[in-house]
Amino acid sequence: MLKVRNLSSGYGNVQIIWDASFEVRDGEVVAILGSNGAGKTTLVRTVTGMIHPKSGSIDFDGDELCGKPSRYILDKGIVQVPEGRQLFTEMTVYENLEMGAFSKEAKAKLQESLEFVYKWFPKLKERKSQAAGTLSGGEQQMVAVGRALIGLPKLLILDEPSLGLAPNIVDDILSVAHSMAKEQGLSVILVEQDITKALAMSDRGYVVENGRIALEGTAEELGKNEHVKKAYLGI
Ligand code: ATP
Repeated sequence: MLKVRNLSSGYGNVQIIWDASFEVRDGEVVAILGSNGAGKTTLVRTVTGMIHPKSGSIDFDGDELCGKPSRYILDKGIVQVPEGRQLFTEMTVYENLEMGAFSKEAKAKLQESLEFVYKWFPKLKERKSQAAGTLSGGEQQMVAVGRALIGLPKLLILDEPSLGLAPNIVDDILSVAHSMAKEQGLSVILVEQDITKALAMSDRGYVVENGRIALEGTAEELGKNEHVKKAYLGI
């Protein structure tokens, strides 16, 4: 579904991502792992067109996305849940969810999609009239994921969903993403610093170090890798 080849990008003259290649298949959960500042967010923001690539190729179901505007990429079905959620805190849960319906198709299917989101996150149905800013951190993350789902993604990108959340809430959110991949065929990219949790929920993963893909493998292989164990898992 997504094949990224030799992608390079950065900010102004500063290159952050160097020659990155990775892929995501249908219904797969792929973890992009690495420590603080390794370049994970920059990598996925380049895929979604929010950062302009310097070179490389981003093939999505046969369509070349490299250099295309973010709105075009969104319409193709790549939807990102940004780090820090970025909700409209004064607006209600329902209004925030509604904001996810960008395309004509998503607008037409809004009611159906809302029911789908409420099925996965029943809490949001109970809280639909509450201002998003008054929700707990975990509930706000659910709204951010829900809003992305309203956009009818084929590929959902979760950027650090665990940030600032209690471990059990993180487990709930990651297991919903995992179930959606396995039951609905949605593909998921999970950007995480919490490598143990990410590997538990992923099929495969890539480790980013200094803006380069340093390692790749199945979740099981990465969990057993000596470098991963020493550098990231402290074992
Ligand atoms: P984290 O887990 O902390 O979010 P990350 O792996 O996602 O880290 P990035 O946010 O991609 O890392 O940052 C990679 C590098 O790019 C860092 O050195 C950071 O300072 C730099 N960087 C990020 N955003 C910008 C920006 N808007 N302008 C200039 N440099 C930036």
